[in-house]
Amino acid sequence: MQDYDSICENFSWAEARKLIDGFPDGGLNIAHEAIERHLLAGHGDQIALRWIAKSGDCTDFSYQQMSELSNRFANVLHAHGLEKGARVYSLLGRVPDLYIAALGTLKAGCVFCPLFSAFGPEPIHSRMEIGGANALITTGRLYKHKIIALRDRLPELHTVLLIDDDMEGAERLLPLMEKASDRFEVARTDAEDTALLHFTSGTTGKPKGVVHVHEAVVAHHMTGRIALDLKPGDTYWCTADPGWVTGTSYGIIAPLTNRVTMIVDEAEFDVARWYDILAKERVNVWYTAPTAIRMLMKAGRDAIADHEFPALRFMASVGEPLNPEAVIWGNDVFGKPFHDNWWQTETGGIMIANFASVTVKPGSMGKPLPGIAAGIVEVGEGGAKELTKPMAIGELALRPGWPSMMRGYLHEEARYRKCFSGGWYLSGDLAMRDDDGYFWFVGRSDDLIKSSGHLIGPFEVESTLMEHDAVAEVAVIGVPDETAGERVKAYVALKPGFEASDALQLELLGHARKKLGPAVAPKEIVFRTNLPKTRSGKIMRRLLKARELGLPEGDISTLESDER
Ligand code: ATP
Ligand code: MG
Repeated sequence: MQDYDSICENFSWAEARKLIDGFPDGGLNIAHEAIERHLLAGHGDQIALRWIAKSGDCTDFSYQQMSELSNRFANVLHAHGLEKGARVYSLLGRVPDLYIAALGTLKAGCVFCPLFSAFGPEPIHSRMEIGGANALITTGRLYKHKIIALRDRLPELHTVLLIDDDMEGAERLLPLMEKASDRFEVARTDAEDTALLHFTSGTTGKPKGVVHVHEAVVAHHMTGRIALDLKPGDTYWCTADPGWVTGTSYGIIAPLTNRVTMIVDEAEFDVARWYDILAKERVNVWYTAPTAIRMLMKAGRDAIADHEFPALRFMASVGEPLNPEAVIWGNDVFGKPFHDNWWQTETGGIMIANFASVTVKPGSMGKPLPGIAAGIVEVGEGGAKELTKPMAIGELALRPGWPSMMRGYLHEEARYRKCFSGGWYLSGDLAMRDDDGYFWFVGRSDDLIKSSGHLIGPFEVESTLMEHDAVAEVAVIGVPDETAGERVKAYVALKPGFEASDALQLELLGHARKKLGPAVAPKEIVFRTNLPKTRSGKIMRRLLKARELGLPEGDISTLESDER
């Protein structure tokens, strides 16, 4: 990649749009850009998706096959009266039908809303109700256990398609697909037509329904190239589930528009399996998350055994702050660093990243993408004002106007409007910008700790504790303190082979004090077997805090079962 500054100078979203087809009248459709465009250019035989079943068996789908299968699915939707704007939900594990349904839904001009298959009935109901679900594609088992009891409360849901069964009130998809034509003319959607509905992770509160339009594909495509270094023909593995925005923007759309071969693994995280996939499939670009990286680190170097990864060119991470320790570990083990990048469900695509061509500063999220203006702001009475002093802590903000920016929170207009001030979109995250223009994550604004007049970001404290050999995972919160206002408390999960003890506690306190100084270091450390996390793997500090203070736990629909 060329020099960062020259790319930024010469960049415009209008030019980026020329990299995709669009329709002659100015409209566009994500599925056309992801699949049909490559067929027209003669790449139908390339493998689009290599699916690894839980059993380990692999099935390949070429771009041509994905086109035909998604055409059939689009025809099935139309045959069920699901036309432009209808909301089609999926509740599936990472199986091929999920990817086919996503593309077919977009081709039909309907809105795709993927739900994470491990959600319980109530989170499913609230998300389907908010979005006004008209159709659902799922499995017989999930339908029986989670949906049947909800159906009375979902009056707009008229079509349920099962990938493996038929039951009362639902139809088996396979015969419908077989009957349907494998030809379909992609709906001529307008760039501003709604394409995707995503729910946020619920880390800070009740998940919000975020609306994205077809125009977003311009950003998916471009950021896939720039921030993930995707090149046509690459083998690429995004480990995120499409139930979260990463698994759609960078687990379906960006890889396909960039004509790569996507690896999709049906199984859950497993250290040996992951190293096997990276090596055997000769993955070139790997996009994963801090929680997975920490688990690999915890398993130690022996777990890599004799695996080698000569094909691996680029590794990236998103979703949570990536501790410098993890970047350094990547360098040790893979001979290359993890490239952290930052974005949100709301931004639809990567906004700040460590690019292939830019030196990685471990612990930093990197620099804004070309076409993205980011700043650190303070929101006062007159609205948001930029803080230009290097390393000033403030809210991370972006100048609106990139293609994948959300078009709204569904049914929450006031909340959406509150995200904007002084010409900025306010992210709700706190960060700093250094002299070289790199951004450093400090914490969510709700997680900032105010202790004896100091502002302490949990990330800095957590990263310091992560440096210690014994620490596998850590979460830091502020708890009320009579003299200091708040005091720093750390929850630590240990690596295998380490025992919680008073001596280890003192050692960790001492390590943090030495590195951070007494004002910032935690005053208290407690050991936990696990930390509460969202199903997408983010540590839920608000839950630790609520439990600490004996307050209600709030919305825990995305909580993965945890152990206190
Ligand atoms: P909710 O908005 O429902 O509380 P959430 O913010 O976790 O949930 P997402 O949109 O999935 O939902 O996550 C975006 C957030 O994840 C960012 O605002 C930021 O706090 C965090 N995040 C993402 N990438 C990074 C990163 N590279 N470094 C630090 N934090 C990150
Ligand atoms: Mg958020």
